[in-house]
This record gives sequence, C-alpha cells and structure tokens, in this order.
Amino acid sequence: MALIVQKYGGTSVGTIERIEAVADRVIATRDKGNQVVVVVSAMSGETNRLIALANEIVDKPPAHEMDVLVSTGEQVTIALLSMALIKKGAAARSYTGSQIKMLTDSAHGKARILDILCGDMEKDLQDGNIIVVAGFQGVDEKGRITTLGRGGSDTTAVAMAAALKADECQIYTDVDGVYTTDPRIEPNARKLDKITFEEMLEMASLGSKVLQIRSVEFAGKYNVPLRVLSSFEEAEGSGTLITTEDDEMEQALISGIAFNKDEAQLTISGVPDKPGVASDILGPITEANIEIDMIVQNVGEDSSTDFTFTVHRNDYDAALAILTRTGDEVKARKVYGDNRIVKVSLVGVGMRSHAGIACKMFSALAEENINIRMISTSEIKISVVIDEKYLELGVRTLHSAFGLENDGNLASA
Ligand code: ADP
Ligand code: ASP
Ligand code: MG
Repeated sequence: MALIVQKYGGTSVGTIERIEAVADRVIATRDKGNQVVVVVSAMSGETNRLIALANEIVDKPPAHEMDVLVSTGEQVTIALLSMALIKKGAAARSYTGSQIKMLTDSAHGKARILDILCGDMEKDLQDGNIIVVAGFQGVDEKGRITTLGRGGSDTTAVAMAAALKADECQIYTDVDGVYTTDPRIEPNARKLDKITFEEMLEMASLGSKVLQIRSVEFAGKYNVPLRVLSSFEEAEGSGTLITTEDDEMEQALISGIAFNKDEAQLTISGVPDKPGVASDILGPITEANIEIDMIVQNVGEDSSTDFTFTVHRNDYDAALAILTRTGDEVKARKVYGDNRIVKVSLVGVGMRSHAGIACKMFSALAEENINIRMISTSEIKISVVIDEKYLELGVRTLHSAFGLENDGNLASA
C-alpha cells in the first residue's frame, strides 16, 4: 500500500463545487489502494481578503496577529473538505498546523519548519482515515501560530511527505505541470515531463510561482518525489516530475524561462571610490531589513563608482529614501530608481557545458529592440533586467529563440 500526499491550491478549492471535485479525486486515489494525506490552501482570494481587512486597521499589522488572521483561511477548507469526504462515505479527519505539531521558528509570516510530530496521524491512517491538513500554518515553541510565507501550503505538503516517508507528493493546481515558462504569458509554452530539483529551485527563486521555493528545497534535501498536476482535468495525466538529474534530461540546453515582476531598481552614481564604499551604500539598506537581489558596480575613469541594485518592489520607496540619505553623506552625484522593471531569466543545467548562450540571449533581445539594464549569471542561469513593458515580448522572443516550444533545444543540436 502506497502513501500519497496530495496538495490542492487555492483555485482547486475555490468553490464548494471544486471542493466536492477534490473530494472525489481523493477518494479515487484511496480506492486505488493508497493511504492519502491531503493538504489544502485557503479558498482562492481568501488570504488576500484577510490581509486587506488587517490593512484597513493598520498599515503594518503586528506579524504574530497577522498569522492568527491569515491562517484561518486554511482552517475553513480543511473542515469543508473533510465534510465533503464524510458525506461521500469516506472516513476523514482534519488537522490544523498546531494539531499536527508543525513546529516552526518564530519568524512570523515566513517561518521555517523545524519538526513535525504528526500527532496520531499514523494510527489514523492505519485505521483507514483520510487525513486533511491545513497548509501554510505552523506553531512555534511558545505555542503561537505562525505561517510559512505566501504559497506555503506547497511546503507543508512536501514536509508532510518527508515526515511520513510518503511514496509521492502530488501538487494539484490549475495547470497540468511545470511548463517551459508561465503558460499565461506564452501560450506556446511546453509542458515538461521532468525537471531537476536544481532547475526547479532556480526557476522558483527567479519568480516561477508554480511551487514555493522552500517546498523545492525541502523536496531536494529529503529526496521527496514531487509531481505537479492539474486538479481541473478529468483524465489523470502524469504532470511534471521534479527529480534528480539523469542522462536523458541533461540533453536540454535550457529548461525554462522565469520572470519576476516584483523587483525595482535603484542607482547611486558618481560616488568617490574607496575601500568600504559598497558596505557604506548597501549597509543601511540591509539594516532596514530590505533584501537586495542583483548588484552591479562599475568604476569609471574618473575613479568614481556607480552602483545599481534591485530590491522587492514593496521596499522601493523605503530603499530610495535610505539611498537618498546615503547619497548626501557620501557626496554622490545622483540617486535615482525605477520600479517599472522586470527580471527575465533563462534556466538550464545544460548551460554548464555550453558557451554562447548569453550572447544568443542578448542578440535575440536586441533584435526586438529590448534594452538590457542589468545582467547577472550563475552556472545554470542568466538573468537580465528589462523594462516592464517588454516582459511579454522578451519572454516570447527568448522562448522561440531557444526553440523551447518544440524541443528544438537539445544540447547536441
Ligand atoms: P495554487 O493556488 O494551486 O498554489 P499558483 O497560482 O500558486 O497555484 O501556481 C500555479 C500558477 O503558476 C499557474 O496558474 C501559472 O500561471 C503559474 N506559473 C508560473 N510559471 C509557471 C511555469 N513555468 N509552469 C507552470 N505554471 C507556471
Ligand atoms: N493561502 C496561502 C497563500 O495564499 C498559502 C497557499 O495558498 O499556499 O499564500
Ligand atoms: Mg501556489
């Protein structure tokens, strides 16, 4: 008998009808002779609705009370799904994060899982129950409710699968797998049968929100077989398997294109260059708890330095205010920024062994007159920052330049 963990995201449980359809799918999985643990998100839009309510009271609500509030969305869906399962004749039981002792640190809003005690779950499973677990939520050592960050139900599911040594963790969503890029931007995107943990982690980190970054980290670390599938299709497809590298997969040069619309760019120029200038400029930004992503520094002939970096768009105003103050202190020529930029990235393990990909990327963008503002590379990715208005054109241009729509992208080609 196999143990399967299934996770259903917001749109998959967005209405009562959808919850009933999920119940049918869960029962069908059990009827094939499996034990099933189901993790659910809040109904679609619910988490945003709760955040908006809090913001009607205060701009920056206390993080621990925010977690008490936003975790309620998932408590609603575990109860509704369990009711639907019971109505259909299945034995089912719901568990909140604190009931399964999903123990996390106390970083409210972005807590990390430390341990899962699983309560009576193994006995419940042996007794033939379907277990329904609230995603996204945990509890810290002091007994306070925590949450795992937006999209965190993916991580709950993978962590449950690791803790219970499940045979597979299936992430059911509104697309039937991981595509070469977001199919909402490029309708010619192609579904991947397999992708490596490493590439999926890079895609997620660079903005592909189909899986939360931490869920991929967790799956890679504990070697949890992870599959992305559609909850909307009648016929069960095989989705996309996220797995370790194999010979067959190495042949693809580029696995996919990720993009991130949540970034903003800041520049401080004409700063007298001397040792310590980077920490003088970036120190006050990190002290304000603002995360910095890409950084480019350039020293001109007059020995003054220009510094450009990106931050989350939500932090743009705060970062610009801090940088303007720093600019006065270090006697910079100019401080400016732009929050209408996007980062587009090519990802692929095949890049390791193939030169020339960056050049091909840059010339494809140039042919469409898309100006590159920043570049950053690692072993398996190349990212560029471009104007927001070129997002769709940029993604589609690269998708076709690298032949991603029809597998014309093999390393031997
Ligand atoms: P859920 O609510 O089920 O967690 P999400 O909205 O978090 O669903 O994730 C699914 C969405 O991820 C899809 O609707 C799709 O628009 C988006 N997405 C982004 N990049 C990709 C990609 N490379 N492949 C598939 N989907 C992607
Ligand atoms: N409901 C939470 C969110 O909207 C967690 C999740 O859906 O995974 O981010
Ligand atoms: Mg999600």
